[in-house]
Amino acid sequence: MEQNGSIPTNNLQFCTDCGNQYSRRAAACPKCGCPNDTANAFVSNKGQKERVVYILYGFFLGYFGIHNFYSGHTGRGIAKIILTCLLITAPIATLWSLVEVCTVKADAHGVPFA
Ligand SMILES: [Zn+2]
Repeated sequence: MEQNGSIPTNNLQFCTDCGNQYSRRAAACPKCGCPNDTANAFVSNKGQKERVVYILYGFFLGYFGIHNFYSGHTGRGIAKIILTCLLITAPIATLWSLVEVCTVKADAHGVPFA
């Protein structure tokens, strides 16, 4: 167990503007406010979901709401599993998924699909 407040040195970097050492995951240098390009690039690239993947999940596994879990819309995904498990309402889940595949263009956090 690590002590509270200590950051492993391999998670630290030096500020390009003032030379202050701070966490790679911080959005900006705490000393001078210079934006942390490493952390910001990580968020914009890794945080973005692929629309192609969303469409494929929605098309083939939409009745289980897999595309909803992928995009972070967990509640909608659970609703589809319930509809599908009730069998008689399964076509509703499938139709709902096809509508979403055509209309949803961003994840649950509002980040547009890549
Ligand atoms: Zn700085």
